[in-house]
Amino acid sequence: MSVVVPVYNEQLNIEKFYEEVTRAIQSINMNYEIIFVDDGSRDSTPLLLSRLTQQDDHVRAFILARNFGHQLAITCGMDHAAGDAVITMDGDLQHPPVMIPDLVQKWREGYDVVQTVRQATDDADFFKKTTSKWYYKLLNAVSPVHITPGGSDFRLVDKRVMETFKLFREHDRFIRGMIGGIGYKQTSISFIAPKRFAGQSKFSVRKMMHFALDGITAYSKIPLRISFYVGMVSGFFSVLMILHVLYCDFMGEATPGWTTTMVVVCLLGGLQLIFIGVIGEYIGRIFEEVKQRPLYWLRAELGKNKK
Ligand code: UDP
Ligand code: MG
Repeated sequence: MSVVVPVYNEQLNIEKFYEEVTRAIQSINMNYEIIFVDDGSRDSTPLLLSRLTQQDDHVRAFILARNFGHQLAITCGMDHAAGDAVITMDGDLQHPPVMIPDLVQKWREGYDVVQTVRQATDDADFFKKTTSKWYYKLLNAVSPVHITPGGSDFRLVDKRVMETFKLFREHDRFIRGMIGGIGYKQTSISFIAPKRFAGQSKFSVRKMMHFALDGITAYSKIPLRISFYVGMVSGFFSVLMILHVLYCDFMGEATPGWTTTMVVVCLLGGLQLIFIGVIGEYIGRIFEEVKQRPLYWLRAELGKNKK
């Protein structure tokens, strides 16, 4: 089994995390490796990782050349995982290592994906809770695959799922949706996320927004389609408007006209700007993908590969 952990400036959490995970896995007696992916940390995380890889053969570490973001760091770990099953989890102990045996149990029962669902988060404020709730409503309204609200990147996937996942090489990724869409036998278990053990959340509102947009545009063409429908409707009304204007003109009631003109111009101008934005969002993504760059690159690889 492989445990994949993205870490970004987690020097205060790593050792405790390592101990707890090791204890949890040893309680179920399995072959295992712990793969840390350092996502361009600026603190002593890489140093601690190098020490751990020397102390314990079960530990491997990939040091990325810079910060690539949580989703790509997880991807790097998954790409290199050698186990029959792979568990991904955060390194700040918000994904309780004591749940590892439960995940493995479900896997042994025959499930290929065991997703965990956050029931409540101790340190999430009202803002994060409400935005998250509405976001998942919106996401599920537009997305062809169902994405469980509160879904986290704490999950176990079987090797079969991993093999498929590795073929998906898009840059803008929302791993929850990708795994959900892969299929096979999936199940979920819920948990209550405790507070971070130490340090601060790395997700600013800006990062969250970006991630949220990825989730929608990566899975849905509906925003593009909406622009088509709205265009149709406003086109229809424009025709009515033209008829009305022609009629007034014909009847000799030359209207002052200023109000209607302004309303139409503003309305259409606004709509056009919105949808140019939507299209731009997708084109931006196409631009990223056509470059065909690697998803991440490494500065160092530490620890033994027991493959
Ligand atoms: N993380 C990462 N790269 C980033 C941001 C975060 O690898 O750019 C890691 C971080 O070290 C942690 C996990 O992703 O192990 C989740 O991050 P965080 O706890 O900050 O997110 P939150 O729990 O607040 O959603
Ligand atoms: Mg966290």
